Amino acid sequence: MVSRQKYLLKKTDVEIRMNLKKSLDPGPAGTLPLKKSRFTEMLIEANAPELRGFDRWIFCEGMLFNSPNKWWGDRGRRDFPHEGIDLCLYRDSSGRIRRIDDSIRFPVVAAGTVQAMFKDYLGKAVLVEHQIQATGSQRLISFYAHTDPDPNIGVGMMVKEGDIIGALADTSHSKAGIRPHLHFSIGMPTKSFSYDGLVWNTIRRPEMMILLDPLPVIDRPYQKLAADDPACRQS
Ligand SMILES: [Zn+2]
Repeated sequence: MVSRQKYLLKKTDVEIRMNLKKSLDPGPAGTLPLKKSRFTEMLIEANAPELRGFDRWIFCEGMLFNSPNKWWGDRGRRDFPHEGIDLCLYRDSSGRIRRIDDSIRFPVVAAGTVQAMFKDYLGKAVLVEHQIQATGSQRLISFYAHTDPDPNIGVGMMVKEGDIIGALADTSHSKAGIRPHLHFSIGMPTKSFSYDGLVWNTIRRPEMMILLDPLPVIDRPYQKLAADDPACRQS
């Protein structure tokens, strides 16, 4: 287990260069600092002993940000490019590819406030708003979908980094027959953004939200598998 102190020493900012709208306050040179987080470490700690031996995340192509493809069912096109990443597979220290299941409880990536919870085609979702200190008033939102939120979590509640806010939902009996996984998104709301009546179809609108690739934030080695890899064909 990595100690808190050791982690802080290795923590660095990741500069993500993006094509930002003028309505946002991107800071110097159009960059925003996205901090690496302890998300994966906290997930492993919260799910000991199940995730003991976790080495790296495994992604089939359709699990990655902006992927146009499904990783389940007919592996056809998604209705919309993927809004985040799907955390589902990992490699353990013996090299074996394993799957997380619906017993897995997940932590909140950073301190913030629960601002919305809704049910949509991505199942039940929890949204937590975070302040980016380096850019003053700019906000970031983390999204956790296909979840079974903790009954004690509610809108308006303040959460600390690492607080457990729910478990994965058992989606294997859903219409899509998709295996349990955590859909994780990071988004930067624009000035016209509102939490009222929020669902994925509004989140996806560029005038409401700029969705970012969460991979740098979860800060863990990962491996991308070809779509025809056996581990992906069985997903
Ligand atoms: Zn997803």
